[in-house]
Amino acid sequence: MFSSVSEHRESFDAVVVGSGPNGLSAAVALAQGGASVLVLEAADEIGGGTRTAELTLAGFEHDVCSAVHTTGILSPFFRSLPLEEHGLRWIVPKASLAHPLDDQPAVMMWQTVEETCAGLGADATSYRKLIVPFLDNPEGFFADALGPLGWPRHPGSFARFGVRALWPATTFANWRFQQSRAKALFGGCAAHSILPLDKMFTAALGLIFCIAGHVRAWPVAAGGSQAITRALSSLLRGLGGEIRTGVRVTSPAELPAARAYLFDTSPDQLASIAKSVLPGGYLRRLGRYRYGPGVFKLDWALDGPIPWRDGNCLEASTVHLGGTLEEIAVGEAEMFRGKHPRRPYVILCQQSQLDPSRAPDGKHTGYAYCHVPGGSTVDMTEAIENQVERFAPGFKDRILARHTMNTDDFRRYNPNYVGGAIAGGVADAFQLFTRPVARLNPYTTPNPRVFICSASTPPGGGVHGRIDILGKDSRLESIAQ
Ligand SMILES: Cc1cc2nc3c(=O)[nH]c(=O)nc-3n(C[C@H](O)[C@H](O)[C@H](O)COP(=O)(O)OP(=O)(O)OC[C@H]3O[C@@H](n4cnc5c(N)ncnc54)[C@H](O)[C@@H]3O)c2cc1C
Repeated sequence: MFSSVSEHRESFDAVVVGSGPNGLSAAVALAQGGASVLVLEAADEIGGGTRTAELTLAGFEHDVCSAVHTTGILSPFFRSLPLEEHGLRWIVPKASLAHPLDDQPAVMMWQTVEETCAGLGADATSYRKLIVPFLDNPEGFFADALGPLGWPRHPGSFARFGVRALWPATTFANWRFQQSRAKALFGGCAAHSILPLDKMFTAALGLIFCIAGHVRAWPVAAGGSQAITRALSSLLRGLGGEIRTGVRVTSPAELPAARAYLFDTSPDQLASIAKSVLPGGYLRRLGRYRYGPGVFKLDWALDGPIPWRDGNCLEASTVHLGGTLEEIAVGEAEMFRGKHPRRPYVILCQQSQLDPSRAPDGKHTGYAYCHVPGGSTVDMTEAIENQVERFAPGFKDRILARHTMNTDDFRRYNPNYVGGAIAGGVADAFQLFTRPVARLNPYTTPNPRVFICSASTPPGGGVHGRIDILGKDSRLESIAQ
């Protein structure tokens, strides 16, 4: 195995293939322990899902993938690093979320539970009772939720979470709330799961996003998501780590000698790159991995702020468009069955409202995507823009330029996005904890020197700097010491 690596003169303790946030986090953690680390990145720019680019017009800085860092700001690993000294600054909005509804004020998730409850009518008490117990020790809760898999260190709050999280979001919301406003708020958060909302465990993301929003409102990174990448890479280089771009790894023969190889890649790429060093049974199981739906994304250069009917929406980093819980649930279920809803559930971010550096004076950026069937090339521009116009009449007149990405564009942009899947693969009850294959330690492979550390491992998609992989394997631990 890796027989040809001896032909290379250089050697490292660890080589990481891919410079997404998970790859860079693993590299930093190893380098902190004194390991020599090399990161190889296929693209000319590092960062994977955390890059920013002028996609429309000069002076308009768009987040190509991740935009709002709900879990990033709470990440136990990121919080343990001096990322601010390396240029990362979170900008925290007054409200995490606005969820406009037809003919009534938008439902707002403000930073405080009390302000949020003020807009939830008869469901205020129920919402308060749901969220407040988790705010006693949010660090402990998120250390368990975003930390290494295993026995939780705060079993009380984790059990409290677990018995609520395992329900389908629709069942949970209809049981917990009486009115459409709280149901819509919860359903919009749960729909980040990219699953039909009548599936078990979809309440989990609804809860995580609501709790997180009341710990720290969902922030953006000043200057764009690339600031996270730059901070991690600067820290890594300061620790002696090396990063090379423009190196697309296709076989073990291209890799320098190392004690460990960590793949920040999709399972299909791990299978293709390392097929000569992994047993057939494991490769077949990687081949059965389910990636699920993709996304269609739009970025706009705008002549001004989005003219929301309810001006409160401008206070939120994120806006969920899709109307009631029922409407969102029907649309997401249709999408999961391979259809393209006329009124899709849309996740919209308005970074320049918080961070003026993203656009020229007086102008704004807009970012929105909807879920589509995996591999879809259907143009959802009109459907998405109609949803914005529904709640912000006059929006279309503010568009100066637009940039679109369908699932093919995403796959070309980053080979990890198989079929345009943005979160590392389906995160349902069967695949969330067993990704990429069911093993006691899913970060390991049958080859003791090969590991997988991407979003296709627990806890799944998102920019959260998880380092589970290190705490779970004595071989990696010994490298990082
Ligand atoms: C449209 C979109 C919106 C999103 N919004 C959010 C959000 O708002 N908040 C949030 O937290 N998350 C969001 N995400 C998800 C988040 O970006 C990902 O979950 C996260 O980036 C995954 O990190 P990763 O390190 O596992 O892999 P990636 O970020 O995918 O990085 C993998 C890297 O490996 C490189 N690579 C792959 N194969 C090879 C190879 N063979 N050789 C060398 N290099 C290789 C790739 O080029 C890439 O740079 C979004 C994603 C998308 C696409």
